Amino acid sequence: MRLSEIKGIDFHCHLDLFPDFQQRVQAVDEAGIATLAVTTTPAAFARNLEVARETSHVRAALGLHPQVIANRGNEVALFAQLLSQTRYVGEVGLDASPAHYGSWPQQIEIFSEILRLCASARGKILSIHSVRSARQVLDAIERIFPPDCGRVVLHWFTGSSRDLRRAVDLGCYFSVNPAMLRSPKGRELVRAIPESRLLTESDGPFQQVEGRPAAPLDMPALAVALAEIRHVESSLIHEQLRQNLARLLSE
Ligand code: MN
Repeated sequence: MRLSEIKGIDFHCHLDLFPDFQQRVQAVDEAGIATLAVTTTPAAFARNLEVARETSHVRAALGLHPQVIANRGNEVALFAQLLSQTRYVGEVGLDASPAHYGSWPQQIEIFSEILRLCASARGKILSIHSVRSARQVLDAIERIFPPDCGRVVLHWFTGSSRDLRRAVDLGCYFSVNPAMLRSPKGRELVRAIPESRLLTESDGPFQQVEGRPAAPLDMPALAVALAEIRHVESSLIHEQLRQNLARLLSE
């Protein structure tokens, strides 16, 4: 990525779930939005890698989403095979919401295995899901994937202020999305994130902006909204986000 040229950052987007995937990747690249194309299963990774390879600003992440573990947990073997092909991992993590709690023991087992694989590979950057499980995700990171092993970006983090401080101490970054800015609690959390750990994400197409799926091209406007909530000049926030991404990629 030529970071000096970027116009925005989307560190968590499911680009391959948009019907116009390939055209969208091209448009995102032309617009200069540095985008991490996360995947939900290792089987989806090859196509993302192939499409991202043609771009300057899009990178493909290898994922195994906690919400598909009940049916796709066996793909962890494929995850292990593919891991050397990318520096980026996501979407991975834990989900303790009622719809997915049935697979909790498998989720713990597979997330731990993924962290072990990434820890021994070194230098990976992980986009991590932690719905109703911030504490357990941080426990696993602390135990298996401490800061000298690689970097963690917590996607749509909704933990307590204590969890947030703990995540900061563990070196985590936070990718903030439009939904987080809509609730008072979300805005409070977003204000508490240290400025050097902030990134932006769309989580498209799962999130909506103006009645349509959120997308990487919404990120410049999200950065402006973030500046307002944090009471900083919007001209400064873009530079701060760009510096944060540059540091994350250089560590
Ligand atoms: Mn996601």
